[in-house]
Amino acid sequence: MIVDCHTHAPGGRSFGLSSVPVSDLLAAMDSAGIDKAMVYTSDGFFFDFVACNNELYAFVQQCPERLIAGPTVDPRYPEAAIAEMRRCRLELGMKGPLKLHPWLQGFSPIEPLMDPIAEAALELGMPIMMHDGTPPYSTPLQVATLAARFPSLTVILGHSGLRDLWQEALAAAKRYPNIILCLCGTLPLGIERIVAEVEPHRLLFGTDAGFGAAPGNQEYRLGQIQRLAVSEEVKALILGGNAQRIFGLS
Ligand SMILES: [Zn+2]
Repeated sequence: MIVDCHTHAPGGRSFGLSSVPVSDLLAAMDSAGIDKAMVYTSDGFFFDFVACNNELYAFVQQCPERLIAGPTVDPRYPEAAIAEMRRCRLELGMKGPLKLHPWLQGFSPIEPLMDPIAEAALELGMPIMMHDGTPPYSTPLQVATLAARFPSLTVILGHSGLRDLWQEALAAAKRYPNIILCLCGTLPLGIERIVAEVEPHRLLFGTDAGFGAAPGNQEYRLGQIQRLAVSEEVKALILGGNAQRIFGLS
């Protein structure tokens, strides 16, 4: 099974993008050969996160067997944020990670405000995926401080350092065993090095589909993983096996 662990399909008004219809996302997945996708908001990083999580829920409900939602919250409002994490996980049944974007949401993962959110995530068995790869608030080692403070929490670097900071993402993964790396927009050389040096059960595949991505983006990024000089077993873990295990997908 191939699982794209990083898409942002519904909404996009914060970037002047139009929302991707679910039929377009499914058609792109079909043409790339992707079975399932984890879907996150983009508007929710700026606007009412409850309303945006509802929009996300409505989006994935159009094809719940293939689309899995991961909600967002604003950590600056801990009570509302924790109540929303519970609602999304327990009432709406969202199996995806809590998706946070320190760079766009304007907080640092180092701040103590993340502690109650991380505690709630642990209690709910919810991994936290953070955008990474862009200073000032989203460098991999800044995000990794959360993994250091909460060694039982699964912390996913959403981009494995992107183009400039993949070496730092690699360092974060080596330092903290509860860091998972999502290979999504990572420099190709960085993908090769990360796959060579990090245990294969700690790697995920993502494309950022929907986030202003050009047509063919999913095929291109899937091809990057499929062309790696590693065993088929390792590719299968990166492309879907790990997502199935980490998010409890069937
Ligand atoms: Zn993202």
